[in-house]
Amino acid sequence: MQGLTRRFGAVAAVDDVWLDVADGEFLVLLGPSGCGKSTLLRMIAGLLEPSGGRVLLDEEDITHVPPQRRDLAMVFQGYALYPHLSVARNIGFPLRARGRPKVEIRAEVAKVAEMLGLTGLLDRKPRELSGGQRQRVALGRALVREPGAFLMDEPLSNLDATLRATTRAEIVALHRSLAATVVYVTHDQVEAMTMATRIVLLNEGRVEQAGSPAEVYDAPASVFVARFLGSPPMNLVDTVLNGDGVARGDDLELPLGLGEGVPERPVTLGFRPEHLTIVPNERAGLRGVVIAVENLGGEEIAHCEVGAARICVRGPRPLGLVAGERVGLSARPEHLHLFDPDSGRRLA
Ligand code: ATP
Repeated sequence: MQGLTRRFGAVAAVDDVWLDVADGEFLVLLGPSGCGKSTLLRMIAGLLEPSGGRVLLDEEDITHVPPQRRDLAMVFQGYALYPHLSVARNIGFPLRARGRPKVEIRAEVAKVAEMLGLTGLLDRKPRELSGGQRQRVALGRALVREPGAFLMDEPLSNLDATLRATTRAEIVALHRSLAATVVYVTHDQVEAMTMATRIVLLNEGRVEQAGSPAEVYDAPASVFVARFLGSPPMNLVDTVLNGDGVARGDDLELPLGLGEGVPERPVTLGFRPEHLTIVPNERAGLRGVVIAVENLGGEEIAHCEVGAARICVRGPRPLGLVAGERVGLSARPEHLHLFDPDSGRRLA
């Protein structure tokens, strides 16, 4: 994608996006509703004309090539299966459309059905399948084409939580075994973290950050990214960074491990809920009051008030905290993130 842009009236849904997708990559386009993920994917697929910029596949400019002549297969969230055709005919559809011989189609369909565990269901109609099975048929129809890349737009969003988790694992396994190239749209951070080889976070049509799941989680480029990834999200507190390398705020005093002689300035300090430890008051960098404790089964989340800020702590159950009591918390310097309070960009 070279400077890819799409405007709807005055709104730039996608705004000057430059991205290379390498062979074999599982690239996830992630971001909140309306950030431009689907618009970007539809331009790659050829379903939507760009207002500016180019799409290249290998070295070829395909910006104005019609979708059916692009070597790409799209999988949608609504499955888009033909209701009157059997599973076998749905999967084989792209091959029939290309006029491939019947025996060849049958063999290809059998191979893909085997791969997806659909062999026993080939004679059924879509209405006789579960949601997860329908989604696998839609995947099968994309797989049978052996395209240069797969484009997937929230393919799991119609499935219940259990099925979503298993289908997620199936898609990851398929990606590995086929060494396929995938561009995958989702607003679900868990899907992005678990499936992607690279995550591209979009914000109002622009690339906010691109990197491996570990990179975007461990070193978010901005407050926007820090807030979007993590559950509960990163704690963010407005503080002052003093010349002695210590961040100070209400009931908060955390050394940043920066040494002496740093310029004094306001900073937004970030730390993840799982990186806080409960410590005796005299050793605490944060002093607060527990507001509520949530039991997640294996873990607990404690909501605390530190000065005027709300802080979340996450750890194995039991945390040993009770609503109403005072609590001392601490975080290691390597787990602290600094952002510019005005621009929201990462400082360190
Ligand atoms: P979601 O996760 O909700 O599907 P998204 O990130 O995929 O969101 P897009 O569907 O790409 O977002 O939409 C991006 C922006 O472009 C939104 O503000 C949307 O309202 C606008 N938009 C999308 N399609 C059109 C259209 N056909 N006409 C006008 N505006 C549109």
